[in-house]
Amino acid sequence: MPRSVLSYPLQVRDRRVLVPIGVPCPYRCGYCYAPEIEPSAPIDPASIVDAVHTLDPSSFDVIQLGYDGDPVASLGAMRALLPGLAATGRHINVSTKARISERAAAVLASAHQATGAGVSLNVSMSCWDSAAVLEAGTPHPQSRLDGARDLLASAGVPFVVALRPILPKVGDDEVAQIISGARDAGATGLVTGPLYATEDEAELMEPGLVISEHRHATAVGWSPLPLERVRILDDDRVARIRAMAEGLGVRHFTNNAQALSEMMRHE
Ligand code: SF4
Repeated sequence: MPRSVLSYPLQVRDRRVLVPIGVPCPYRCGYCYAPEIEPSAPIDPASIVDAVHTLDPSSFDVIQLGYDGDPVASLGAMRALLPGLAATGRHINVSTKARISERAAAVLASAHQATGAGVSLNVSMSCWDSAAVLEAGTPHPQSRLDGARDLLASAGVPFVVALRPILPKVGDDEVAQIISGARDAGATGLVTGPLYATEDEAELMEPGLVISEHRHATAVGWSPLPLERVRILDDDRVARIRAMAEGLGVRHFTNNAQALSEMMRHE
């Protein structure tokens, strides 16, 4: 398949730059909007690395890899990108729902050494038993945690568990399993975040929700390409999850900046 070049400018927000992996995610989770921002052809990794190196290096401290797909599941692309990204000397944060294979662990450990500022992982999951349906195609959440635990033990790459998005219809019993799993695997903590749904999806999840005035779709702020969604985040539920996490001895972060700051502090 022919490759395309990166066709939009990279965004730097709060000293973090969002960098695409450039190939479609194989997992196709039920709530995912990545297909809407996928390129029609895989993006040449060299053009992505070049785009990062043209940024003002004093403008960012962290490279966040994988908002458009799954870097660990797309090992060839990650392998092609990481050496060039590590050459910036910036911290690299990788989001994934994959089980980290031995080959992926070697690529991540090498970048962890090379960058000087370290690599960290966001091990993403939104459910436990329901994953077989809602995150069909992904490895079981326990398998994702096992891989991250092994990489932490072998290479010192820290990770947080990203309970993001919080899905309104996934119960607290599954959330408790995620938090316990995070604790047992040695995660730095738990970061939570909103669901971005179409208006139809939002109404199905919470009937009546979209008729209130602030619940119409708005632009997703971090997306480099136009993307409109209803942002769903129940503050009471976040508070409950925070209490559950703290009760199990797991730190809770309300955003990735907090989680990154903690992971970078310990490297
Ligand atoms: S793993 Fe992430 S990018 Fe891939 S389908 Fe699931 S939510 Fe989308």
